[in-house]
Amino acid sequence: MSLLATEGVSVSFGSLRALHRVDLALEEREILAVIGPNGAGKSTLFNVIAGMLRPTEGRVRYGGRVITGLGPAEICRLGIAKTFQVPQLFPRLTVAENVAVGALYGRGVGLREARRLAAEWLDFVGLGPRRDAPAETLTMSERRRLDLARAVATGARVVLLDENMAGLNQREVEGALLLLRKLRERGTTLMLIEHIMRAVVGVADRVIVLNYGEKLAEGRPDDVMRDPAVIKAYLGEAHA
Ligand code: ADP
Ligand code: MG
Repeated sequence: MSLLATEGVSVSFGSLRALHRVDLALEEREILAVIGPNGAGKSTLFNVIAGMLRPTEGRVRYGGRVITGLGPAEICRLGIAKTFQVPQLFPRLTVAENVAVGALYGRGVGLREARRLAAEWLDFVGLGPRRDAPAETLTMSERRRLDLARAVATGARVVLLDENMAGLNQREVEGALLLLRKLRERGTTLMLIEHIMRAVVGVADRVIVLNYGEKLAEGRPDDVMRDPAVIKAYLGEAHA
């Protein structure tokens, strides 16, 4: 049985069909990348899985249980956490406090344990030295790592990363990939939306391509990148 699955998930915003009957399955400890042109429905798919949006049609299953209809807090406590395309941090709180909030929210631990977990995960993402800085003073690369630390501090078994490498330079992307591999070694299952193809090929076991809300292709990164339908979807956008 898959750890996480979407079954025929559709989302409509008025007359706009953002997702149409998307099926996917995620295995334990897998790294699955979701790619596709802008507006393909990638963030919408993550929002449905994380409980921020209710699908118009279809279900999400986690550990065999249907979680469709649960809210984001309940889904987070069950073990699914998400980072945001634009990091949603508490700007005036310190870096450590932002991560502690994740631990409090996801695990229902006390403040002392939340602080301990925050320190541990900040070291993991390399933000230990910045722990007392207000989050608003961080660089983009630091914000992305803080968002990741906050998501994993919830105790999540599955972490959804929505363009967590956007705006990073090459060296920072390499650092981010290393963190994802280390997370997987610790037993975390990852799903990532990613535009940086080098990152997808470097870390994903499997890729799903969305185009106009539908699954266009699925497979190993190398095979998917060579798929003429996938190349056309991307070139079509570049030439538009
Ligand atoms: P992606 O992340 O692949 O770029 P999104 O999932 O953000 O795409 O968006 C898919 C489509 O749904 C886009 O056309 C977008 O404008 C639309 N959309 C997303 N969220 C909403 C919303 N809350 N209300 C209306 N339309 C939305
Ligand atoms: Mg998006």
